[in-house]
Amino acid sequence: MSNIYVTRASMPLKEEYFEEISDLWDSHILTNMGSKHQKLEAELKEYLGVKEISLFCNGHMALELLLQAMGLTGEVITTPFTFASTTHAIVRNGLKPVFCDINEEDYTIDVEKIKPLITEKTSAILPVHVYGNVCDVRAIDEIAKKHHLKVIYDAAHTFGVTYAGKGAASFGDASMLSFHATKVFNTIEGGAVCYRDKQIGEKLYQLKNFGIQSETEVTGVGANAKMNEFQAAMGLCNLRHVDEEIAKRKRVFYRYLEKLEGIAGIKIPHETGTDCKSNYAYFPVVFDEEKCGCSRDEIYDELQKHQIFPRKYFYPLTNTFSCFQGQFDVEETPVAWQVSRRILCLPIYADLELKMVDKICAIVCGRLLK
Ligand SMILES: *Cc1c(COP(=O)(O)O)cnc(C)c1O
Repeated sequence: MSNIYVTRASMPLKEEYFEEISDLWDSHILTNMGSKHQKLEAELKEYLGVKEISLFCNGHMALELLLQAMGLTGEVITTPFTFASTTHAIVRNGLKPVFCDINEEDYTIDVEKIKPLITEKTSAILPVHVYGNVCDVRAIDEIAKKHHLKVIYDAAHTFGVTYAGKGAASFGDASMLSFHATKVFNTIEGGAVCYRDKQIGEKLYQLKNFGIQSETEVTGVGANAKMNEFQAAMGLCNLRHVDEEIAKRKRVFYRYLEKLEGIAGIKIPHETGTDCKSNYAYFPVVFDEEKCGCSRDEIYDELQKHQIFPRKYFYPLTNTFSCFQGQFDVEETPVAWQVSRRILCLPIYADLELKMVDKICAIVCGRLLK
């Protein structure tokens, strides 16, 4: 039996991709915002329901250069229950992350705890739509307006999610999306910034190409973070099938719900409300060791024995990384700390067989009842 990982990259048929890239042998234009790049931008704007979009070589560089383009200073309020990228993007911009706790409901930023963290040095809030769960965007917007802060969302998990009839990447001043191979929609590696302000767009365009404004003018200390034509071609192909992929993920998601509902000691995701369209990107389960008689790590080990590889997203918390030793106090984010030690993301992807879901659930339940 082959290994079952937490996710499996979506790919178009070989023939479809070959067809999509074949004219690159005519044009010999392989990167630098070529025609595939432009086409993908246009199609994504439409699909995501966003005003403006700028593509990048990956999600991290999109976020890092977005923070630079926004000209942030001082402190940025964020959460430690996320991928390394979110915190690193702040620190690599010379900014100080100020960690806010998450809520126990959906693991996004606890909006009740933001205000006490605001100081005169705060310039922005950078929350994460964890697992595709959209943050309390209304409350965050209200706080930001009152204190003149920018709002930037790490929307890496929310491709295709809509909330209150709007694309999830349309909230705040700007949002970052990741198109990494492990995400719901991929361009192999890739990412994007969705934004409103045209000036931000111009800055992003320059910063992803060394800060070059024209042949003789270099106006920013930029990087090289352009999406190339082969990545964009992969995106054009995958976009044709993404709705179908999400529908298949939904079947897997509901099978997990069916098999794991009502089991004592575990917390599984809610079914999404009518105001939200999910992308079924993750299936996080929180194990309460006291109630279920075994720890998250024991479940993890048990599944690994069967060649099933779930992931402890997000453990460890970013404010406990050894590269930040002595700088942050994990006790300031107690809910995030508890959740990170108890959570496990079970395998979910379009072609995961329902039989395999049943097997995973049987292994989990078997271990719980031991
Ligand atoms: C995947 C991910 C990123 C980074 O995206 P890359 O495209 O891998 O650089 C950032 N934040 C979160 C929450 C992610 O899951």
